[in-house]
Amino acid sequence: MARSNTFSAPRRHSKSIYLGKVQVGGDSPVSIQSMTTTKTANVEATLSQIYSLAGAGCDIVRCTCNDGEAAIGLAQIVPRSPLPIVADIHFHVEMALAALEAGVAGLRLNPGNLRKPAEIKLVAQEAKDRGVPIRIGVNAGSLHPDLYKKYNGVTPEALVESAMNELSLFGEVGFEDVKISVKASNVVLMIEAYRILAETVDVPLHLGVTEAGPPPAGIIKATAGIATLLSEGIGDTIRYSLTADPIEEVKAGRVLLEALGLRERKGLDLIACPSCGRAEIDVIAVAKAAQEALEKLNLPLQVAVMGCVVNGPGEAREADLGIAAGRSKGHLFIKGKIVGVVKESEMVSALVEEAQKIAKEGVEARLAAADPNAQAEAEADRLALLENRGVDANNSITKIEQIRRRIDLSE
Ligand code: SF4
Repeated sequence: MARSNTFSAPRRHSKSIYLGKVQVGGDSPVSIQSMTTTKTANVEATLSQIYSLAGAGCDIVRCTCNDGEAAIGLAQIVPRSPLPIVADIHFHVEMALAALEAGVAGLRLNPGNLRKPAEIKLVAQEAKDRGVPIRIGVNAGSLHPDLYKKYNGVTPEALVESAMNELSLFGEVGFEDVKISVKASNVVLMIEAYRILAETVDVPLHLGVTEAGPPPAGIIKATAGIATLLSEGIGDTIRYSLTADPIEEVKAGRVLLEALGLRERKGLDLIACPSCGRAEIDVIAVAKAAQEALEKLNLPLQVAVMGCVVNGPGEAREADLGIAAGRSKGHLFIKGKIVGVVKESEMVSALVEEAQKIAKEGVEARLAAADPNAQAEAEADRLALLENRGVDANNSITKIEQIRRRIDLSE
């Protein structure tokens, strides 16, 4: 039965599986995954990265299991990891079996690389016996050669057929504890493949645009693919594959899910105006400094940095907290109401202090504690700025007049 989420499209129904204690699919929230970049054999470095990923909001982490040393590393990492560990397997069946022996919470098999049916069934049987789920991780870049030939290249249908072939081998040993991904670096190809897959199976789907590249282009490409599918109700777990620190992958995943209303906000949501001719400060610099200072607090607040007090508090009235510049001052506001006026140089520290007070005392108490003169002072600054710069700070009226003159001349 379909259930609704924040989109008009209902979320696709899927079975659910468990990676350790983390449910994927069914009614569970869309989870965020990442992958360690350390050598898995380096147990301490890998665990340190896993702890950082957990702190950033990661739900499931994948580690490569590419050799015996990595498998031995996994055996030591698994019991100390705060997150369920998925072993990434490509060519060697023995690495899959060793990872299961190490106690991992899940396996990822690439059907394009691990191809012998007998080996695939052997892994599925072992995983079934241990109650460990497997992701069938199809990748356009390593599509099975037979399918590449059959479809004359990489197509959405070829990616889906690769996954279905593997699923059918799993079925031969009665193994159904599965999720699937059909990733490609081509966003349109990836979207189409997942759409077909979503119509074909009812297992949970792991979304991703593979090899998306470094930010910001990588984030944009991954978001284009993942958000499109999520907005259609498709997708149960996501990974941003960025050429960057994996923490950035998790942050991007969180921001996307929070923006789409699919996960509750855990940390800071900093909004800032784009700046314009009215700006009284360097909005980019202040927003960056505020982001860095407030992120450390790890508070679930939406905070606004606005370039002027003329429009700022009103435009950001939905933010929990904000600051707007004007006449060398910062006008601090909570839910659009001015609660204090500080020096321009103290804008960021005032935001930090107020954010801590809101976390401790709550919004209502902080509104009640507002400086009674602040509102009047802000209004006076607002009017003075309007007088200084006029209603049309961007000179659009003048520009429009000039455009009209040119149009008149050309007629
Ligand atoms: S009017 Fe003020 S708040 Fe709006 S973009 Fe311009 S500087 Fe920012």
